[in-house]
Amino acid sequence: MAKQLPKWINREQLVLLLLGVVVPLAFIAIILFADVREGPKTAYVGVLAAIPLLAAIFGTPKTTAFVGVATWLSAFEFGNIASDGNANSQRVRLIIIAIFSVIAVIASAIRVRREEGFAQAFLRAAQADLIEVQANTDISTGLLNRRGVIASLELRQAPEMTLAMFDIDTLKQINDTYGHLVGDEVIAGVGSRLAGGFSKDDVVGRWGGDEYIVILDTPMELGTKAVLRVFEQLTSEPIATSAATISVGMSVGVATWADGEAIDGVLARADNALYEAKSKGRNQVVVAPL
Ligand code: GH3
Ligand code: MG
Repeated sequence: MAKQLPKWINREQLVLLLLGVVVPLAFIAIILFADVREGPKTAYVGVLAAIPLLAAIFGTPKTTAFVGVATWLSAFEFGNIASDGNANSQRVRLIIIAIFSVIAVIASAIRVRREEGFAQAFLRAAQADLIEVQANTDISTGLLNRRGVIASLELRQAPEMTLAMFDIDTLKQINDTYGHLVGDEVIAGVGSRLAGGFSKDDVVGRWGGDEYIVILDTPMELGTKAVLRVFEQLTSEPIATSAATISVGMSVGVATWADGEAIDGVLARADNALYEAKSKGRNQVVVAPL
């Protein structure tokens, strides 16, 4: 049965400790020992054995293996030319270089695997973020969609908030007159006016069809003021489309609610106010009573 590692070290740390500390220390000890026994000739073995390890810091296992083989062949050739006649010593030198070349290839393989792991984890996180953003975004307007609005509501904790439902007046008629694509341009134009009109801290989303939702972290009085300001901007300046510059009317229902109240109740109050705005003749803002 495999032996359990102590709690203070995991497998990866153990490998790093072996390759980064124990092996280099052993390396120094071997060279010093050989140097004492054989004289300074051994020093070149030490330098040569370090070369594949250097390659392992930056290179792939393949290039490290190439450097290891080149180092070994150089040592072999050096032994042939400048041999002191001691075949045993030459054999030991070549074995040391071969061992360190193999260690370097293993170290390089571990390093490359770890780097690939980090890169994949980073890519997965980026893809997950992108998918999340796409799932919460309405393609036609670039605003949050219904899912995105609900998700951002869960993150908000203001003591009192104001919610407004905006609905384009008689969009069906615009569709019938100019065509559906121009209707789409009006929907996108209203979306960008709303996004530009409210502050970045406010939630602006497309609730569906020609209906938009705006949520402000402000109590009723301030919130309604902001809604009226954007309503005026939106309805007083016509929207340029590919077919014509079209004046749009908007009906708006505003409701306020305290933190902790479920969204359904406040949505129903804002919806009723919006319905009232429509039935009173459209193009106006109605504030729901508390
Ligand atoms: P009202 O003043 O009562 O709001 O009338 P309306 O014509 O705007 O009708 P309503 O809001 O009840 O219905 C929304 C209409 O908007 C239905 C559909 O014809 C149109 N519509 C909904 N979504 C889209 C869209 O993505 N593109 C286009 N071009 N039209 C849409
Ligand atoms: Mg409408």
